[in-house]
Amino acid sequence: MGEQRVYDAIVIGAGHNGLCTAAYLQRAGLKTAVFERRHEEGGGINTEEPLVPGFRFNMHANYMEFFDIIPMIEDFGLEELGLRSITPENQCGIAFADGRPPLVLHRNDLLEKSRQSIARFSKADADTFMELKARTMDFGPLLAMGIYTPPNPAMAGAQGAVLESLFGDMGIGAHYALKTPRPSSTRSSSPPRCAPCSTGPASSSGRRSTSTAAAPGRS
Ligand SMILES: Cc1cc2nc3c(=O)[nH]c(=O)nc-3n(C[C@H](O)[C@H](O)[C@H](O)COP(=O)(O)OP(=O)(O)OC[C@H]3O[C@@H](n4cnc5c(N)ncnc54)[C@H](O)[C@@H]3O)c2cc1C
Repeated sequence: MGEQRVYDAIVIGAGHNGLCTAAYLQRAGLKTAVFERRHEEGGGINTEEPLVPGFRFNMHANYMEFFDIIPMIEDFGLEELGLRSITPENQCGIAFADGRPPLVLHRNDLLEKSRQSIARFSKADADTFMELKARTMDFGPLLAMGIYTPPNPAMAGAQGAVLESLFGDMGIGAHYALKTPRPSSTRSSSPPRCAPCSTGPASSSGRRSTSTAAAPGRS
């Protein structure tokens, strides 16, 4: 029989949420174990070289929205421990097999390049993209503020109206707020409205999107 180990807390999965949780638990004085089934930790935030030598990326996530405001970076001095983040100029793109140039979306500080890339295919779409970007980027700080602030139950009834006033003309109606389960006392008895929404929301915020070059280690 192997040695029996006893922990105060066990975290299953060493993605960044698991790692963050484990680190805070450990720092709070709980003896914590993290179990990861893959060959390395990191989940959606690790960096691999799975296809072509020299091309390092995550198999799923292509950017980390709001990465730069994660409190854990400061709380644990991760940059001093070696965490580095890179925000590539080219954020994402579409390649075509028929020889047309790729459509490339750039970092938010290089919007004009994105506009030019889209305009090669459609000037109207390029103009629409710029208009939506200008509007949605203003919401960046607001969204960032909400991420690390616990929801205020007193505001629950107003969430739908706020959402609709911000994004209603993009097809996002008040009923989207109902997708977050909340206590039955505040839940509306009427069924959610189904607003017509033929297109998805545009790129959401003006925050930097970031690829990670190193992930924090196991707690
Ligand atoms: C296709 C795709 C694209 C995405 N693109 C983006 C993007 O561009 N930008 C962005 O910000 N987010 C993106 N996301 C979302 C982002 O990847 C997740 O929100 C994030 O990875 C969640 O982190 P996590 O730590 O909760 O879980 P994960 O990162 O999923 O980590 C979970 C970990 O748990 C391990 N695990 C699971 N089950 C067990 C088990 N039973 N025992 C032991 N270990 C286990 C897994 O191997 C994994 O390492 C994408 C998600 C997907 C699926």
